[in-house]
Amino acid sequence: MTDLGSAFRTAFGRAAEGVWHAPGRINLIGEHTDYNDGLVLPFALPRGVSVAAARRDDGVIEVRSLQADGTVTAPVDGGTVVSEGWPAERAWAAYPVGTARVLREHGTGGASLLIDSDLPQGAGLSSSAALECATALALCDLHGVEIDRPELARLAQRAENDQVGMPCGLMDQSASLLCTPGHALLLDCRSGLSSQVPFDPAAAGLTLLAVDTRASHALTGGDYGRRRAECEQPAALLGVDALRDVKDLAGALGRLRDPVLRRRVQHVVTENHRVEASTGLLRAGAVAELGAMLNASHLSLRDQFEISWPEADAAVDAALRAGARGGRMIGGGFGGSVIVLAASDRAGRVRDAIAAAYAKRGWTAPEFLDAVPSAGARRLS
Ligand code: ADP
Ligand code: MG
Repeated sequence: MTDLGSAFRTAFGRAAEGVWHAPGRINLIGEHTDYNDGLVLPFALPRGVSVAAARRDDGVIEVRSLQADGTVTAPVDGGTVVSEGWPAERAWAAYPVGTARVLREHGTGGASLLIDSDLPQGAGLSSSAALECATALALCDLHGVEIDRPELARLAQRAENDQVGMPCGLMDQSASLLCTPGHALLLDCRSGLSSQVPFDPAAAGLTLLAVDTRASHALTGGDYGRRRAECEQPAALLGVDALRDVKDLAGALGRLRDPVLRRRVQHVVTENHRVEASTGLLRAGAVAELGAMLNASHLSLRDQFEISWPEADAAVDAALRAGARGGRMIGGGFGGSVIVLAASDRAGRVRDAIAAAYAKRGWTAPEFLDAVPSAGARRLS
């Protein structure tokens, strides 16, 4: 990334007071469990969003991004960005401005922010939460406001929900703020409580590859809403608050007549168990055994939740044929990334096999990222 301090001076004609960084994340396992009040197990990536910032005392938030055009200026005392109907070219600024507006109620104020990122946007690695969390940390430090991190995660989530208008769960912001190197974060999406779970693939002779399948997830909007409804409906029919509360899976399936709803319930309930089992394996130091959990998750997402896509299935299939321990699609579905767990001395072969499978079908070459569990958000300077 650029030297943000000097870029800040060029952009705003004064010195930055500091630089803050918040990472993107990958969810190891626990897909579509978050809005069912269930469990997720994300870890922070070695990539993220950095923000150079200086305080302003005139109640104005001014933001620029090296990944977007123009400067956006807005009052921190305002309603919601989403209700102001900003034009598309400044839509990106809803994330930092919205964060400033939510935090304003907790005592922060204005600032000038220069943003830089090495995370792809919209690729399911959570650049949006990284942007909110880096902004939130900068604003708290600049205005001398102390908010504990679980609470800050809730406020950043609120910025995305209320200000941007995106009804996301708490996972992305929690991962960005709470993760630590060499660990995944077990997050209970009902209570908001989390705990650190050791996860250091390299120390176990393993590599976790993230593969950007290069298939866009533009379709996700409507499908995501439909899947949520297909989880809420059976929960209501079964008389539970959320599918997380289904204890007797066989009994529940027996009470549901719609085969589609049965498949959705099957996925959510078993996926929660897979998060618990994966946590147990990691705590026992059996990292390689996670491969079987990833495979089971992928099959469930493909066949029960029905949100996988051809490039993801081909990547997982090619990886397994080349000797990977396991792999699965990640994210909302219908596009985005896949993760693959392989012995480190096989990772090159696995990569080549995935690339060859793509080339054979004439698809755009996939991109690979060595997903090392890294530190959460922090001040860099
Ligand atoms: P994801 O969080 O998976 O990357 P989202 O659609 O939730 O995908 O968030 C991506 C959006 O976040 C972008 O469209 C843009 O509005 C905003 N964003 C993320 N990073 C930056 C950045 N570096 N500069 C400007 N906007 C950004
Ligand atoms: Mg996002």
